[in-house]
Amino acid sequence: MEALRTKAKELLAQGEVQVVIGYEAGTAGVRRPCFVRTAESAIRLVWDTNCIGNLAGYLTRPEIKRFGKPAIVANNAVLRSLLQLVAERQLQQDAVLALAVAQDGVVTELPTAQAVEDYLAISPGGLSAADREKMEHLAQLSREERWTFWQRELERCIKCYACRSSCPMCYCGHCTMDCNRPQWVSVPSHALGNLEYHTVRAMHLAGRCVQCGECGRACPVGIPIHLLTCYAEESVHRQFGQQAGTRAKLDYALGAFRPDDKESFIR
Ligand code: SF4
Ligand code: SF4
Repeated sequence: MEALRTKAKELLAQGEVQVVIGYEAGTAGVRRPCFVRTAESAIRLVWDTNCIGNLAGYLTRPEIKRFGKPAIVANNAVLRSLLQLVAERQLQQDAVLALAVAQDGVVTELPTAQAVEDYLAISPGGLSAADREKMEHLAQLSREERWTFWQRELERCIKCYACRSSCPMCYCGHCTMDCNRPQWVSVPSHALGNLEYHTVRAMHLAGRCVQCGECGRACPVGIPIHLLTCYAEESVHRQFGQQAGTRAKLDYALGAFRPDDKESFIR
């Protein structure tokens, strides 16, 4: 933790970055995001095993961009998000300084997307063991059982959109869900509308979800919604051989044309 504070203080004092996005102590042991803009405030930063939230969603917010060049305290989920945002041209290759913090507190500066890519090649991270187990359980169910599982889960959705707000890859300024001319998806929470929202979202995240689990953690009613987007992501990986958050140069699998595509309709 001290190494992180010292590094943040140094970067801010020397003007190398104008804000450090990191974690600070919240209530009841929870770690919450903080935006450190002066060397003196670096003392607020904390780093421990409770720092699990994916901070990368802030990198594309206009109000944060206004601060100037950011450094971001990064676990592997943040690093994968950063790479995917570069791949989707939402960030320049060297727009963000990532501060990767190892379990022993050692801080590694990653100034470019290439440096992040090299770091992740050795230590990729990914789904937690518990989530992997749940995914495998769902995969073993029959199609009808999976359908029943998701219908029951999605019926509980209150359409608060916390899943969308917390996702680093949901960065559109104006979401289809908010369009009312025409109204694509109805606003109230009901079984059909909920299913429409989550199907659309999962399709938009297929090939783009970095499997951070943040949307599931954000859900106030405990729907494991990340399993749906992670499942869609893994289907794209299986079918097209590419994985979100692994490379800074990555075509969107569902939007790229390849003459050698295995489906004949494309020729
Ligand atoms: S796990 Fe959820 S929050 Fe994380 S990238 Fe995928 S859809 Fe977004
Ligand atoms: S966070 Fe949960 S309740 Fe809110 S919209 Fe997403 S799935 Fe529904």
